[in-house]
Amino acid sequence: MKDKMIEGKIVKISGPLVVAGGMGNVNMFDVVKVGELGLIGEIIEIHGDNAYIQVYEETGGIGPGEKVVSTGEPLSVELGPGLIGTIFDGIQRPLKEIAVKAGNFIPRGLDIPHLDRNKKWDFKPVLKAGAEVKAGFVLGTVDENENIVHKIMVPPNIDSAKIKKIESGSFTVTDTVCLLETKKGETEVKLMHKWPVRIGRPYLRKNAPTRQLKSGQRVVDAMFPIAKGGTACVPGPFGSGKTVIQHQLAKWADAKIIVYIGCGERGNEMTDVLNELPHLKDPYTGKTLMERTVLIANTSNMPVAAREASIFTGITIAEYYRDMGYDIALMADSTSRWAEALREISGRLEEMPGEEGYPAYLGTRIASFYERAGDVVCISEDERQGTLSVIGAVSPPGGDLSDPVVQATLKVVKVFWSLESQLAYRRHFPAISWLNSYSLYYDNFREEIEKKMGTIWTEMRRETFRLLQIENDLIEIVRLVGIESLSQKDRLTLEVSRLIREDFLHQNAFSDIDTYTSERKMFLMLDTILQMNEKGRAAIDRGMKTEDVFKIPAVEKIARMKYVPENELKQIESIKDDIKGELDRLERTEA
Ligand code: ADP
Ligand code: MG
Repeated sequence: MKDKMIEGKIVKISGPLVVAGGMGNVNMFDVVKVGELGLIGEIIEIHGDNAYIQVYEETGGIGPGEKVVSTGEPLSVELGPGLIGTIFDGIQRPLKEIAVKAGNFIPRGLDIPHLDRNKKWDFKPVLKAGAEVKAGFVLGTVDENENIVHKIMVPPNIDSAKIKKIESGSFTVTDTVCLLETKKGETEVKLMHKWPVRIGRPYLRKNAPTRQLKSGQRVVDAMFPIAKGGTACVPGPFGSGKTVIQHQLAKWADAKIIVYIGCGERGNEMTDVLNELPHLKDPYTGKTLMERTVLIANTSNMPVAAREASIFTGITIAEYYRDMGYDIALMADSTSRWAEALREISGRLEEMPGEEGYPAYLGTRIASFYERAGDVVCISEDERQGTLSVIGAVSPPGGDLSDPVVQATLKVVKVFWSLESQLAYRRHFPAISWLNSYSLYYDNFREEIEKKMGTIWTEMRRETFRLLQIENDLIEIVRLVGIESLSQKDRLTLEVSRLIREDFLHQNAFSDIDTYTSERKMFLMLDTILQMNEKGRAAIDRGMKTEDVFKIPAVEKIARMKYVPENELKQIESIKDDIKGELDRLERTEA
C-alpha cells in the first residue's frame, strides 16, 4: 500500500491537464485536490516524480507552485437511496443542491456530498441477527419512491460474514444499519457505499440476452429491436434525430430504471428532459417518469474532462441498480463528445495520436464502456437476474460513418440504428434507415415472441423487409424508365411500401398519442397494412388496377391508425374487414 495523503506542487498547467511534481508515490486513478481552490482531478499518468492529472473543473487562475493533495481514493460514486429523480454533474455532484448553495453556476472546488446527508429513509430489515451472509445478499429495503424498492445489499467487497446487529427504522445514508462480523473484524453497513467508477461491479455470470427491451417506437420494436441487456448505437449527422430518439427511449423503454447521460450536448436539451419527465406517466406503472430516472448532465458549457468521467459515473450507478435484480436502460448523448474529451486530454499528454487524432486506445475505452452492459446473474442469495441495456448516440462530423468513434462502436454493439440526413430532410422521423440498420438480437427472443403470437410476427417482419427492399429496387427502375414500365403488381408494392413508411415506420415523437405505441397496437397496424398488400394483390389477379385498389376509403383509415388511442384499438381491428368489404364492393360495381 502506498502512502495516503501525498502532497505535491503544480509544475505545469495545460487546459484541463495539470502536471504536479513530488507525486511519485501516488496511485494511478487517485482523486486529487488541485491548487489552493482544491479543484477535483484524477491522476491518469505517472512519470517518475510527476503525476499527470485531468482536472474536472476549469483550471483558469491557478498557477505553478500551488499544492496538489492526493485523497488516496479512486474516482468513486456514492451508491444508495436518493439517486432516483436527481440530476448530477459528470462527477456526481447534485446540481440542484449546488444551485441552492451557490446559485446558477458551479463554484470551483465546492466540496458537496453526492447523496443528501440529512434526508431520512425508512429501512426495513429482511434478515435477523445471526444470519450468515455474503456479498450481494439483501439485508433490508428502503422504498426509494412509490415505484422503486431500493435493496440494501452486503457490499461486493465483503466475502462472508455474520450479522451481529441489524436495525429497523429511519436512517440517513451515513447511519449504520447493520453490523457485520467478518473474518477480518467488524464492518458497518450503511445505506450508501462508495464504488470506483472505472471498475465494473462484479456479477456471477453473464447470459445471452433473451428478452426484448420495448421502446414504444415502431421502427425499433418491429424492425430493429434491442434486447434487455443489449447494446445499441445511433449514429447520425447533426439534426437527424439522435437526441429525440434517446429522449423517446428514456421516456418509453420498458425498463425499471433509466440513467440518462447528457454528455457535451446543449444544456437546453437536458432542461427539456427535466421539464417533461415529471409530467409524463410511465405506461407500464402509471407513475411519473421522473420516479425512475437518474440524470447525469455534463453539457457543452461544462468542463471537458468531466465529460470523460460522466459516462463512467452513469454506468456505475446503472450497474448498482442492476445488482438489485432490475432492468436498467442507459442512454448516452453523445459518446462522440466524450471521445473528443478523451482526444483533447490525450493530445495534451502528447501521446502518439491514432486515427483523426484520437488516442490509440479509443477502441478499448469504448469497448470497456459497452461491455458493462449485459443480462447478468447478480451476486446474490437468490441468483436474481438483472439487465443493463446501453444505447449510445454517436455524432460523427458530417455524419460520416467511417469516423473512428462510429467504427469502434460498431465493433462492440449489436444494434445499429443508422440515421440518415436524407430521411430527416424529408421529415421522415425517426430517420432510421430501414435498409442499412440492423439488429443482431431478433433471433434471441424470436422464441419468446413466437410462443406468445405464433410465427406470424416473424413472418410479418420478414414480409415488411422484403417489400421495402423491392421498393428500393423499383424506385431505381422508375427513375430510369418511368412508372409506366411497371406492372400492376409492382405498382402495388410501391403503394404498400409507402403505407409501411408513412403510416407505420414514421412516428411523431411530439404527438401525444403517436409518441408511444404498445406491442399490441404495433402488431395490429402492421397486420392491417399487410392485409392491404394481400387483398390488393388478389384484386389485381382478378383484373383490377392498383390505382383503384388504393382508392378505397380504408386507405384513409390506415393513415389515421397511429392516432388511435391505446384504449380504442378496436378501431384498428375493424379495418381489415373494411379492406375486404370495400374491395369486394369495388369489384362488383366495376363488373
Ligand atoms: P440531433 O440530436 O441528431 O442533432 P435532434 O434529435 O435534436 O437531432 O432532432 C432534430 C429535430 O428533428 C428535432 O428538433 C425535431 O424537430 C425533429 N425530429 C427528430 N426526431 C423526431 C421524431 N421522432 N418526431 C418528430 N420530430 C422529430
Ligand atoms: Mg442531439
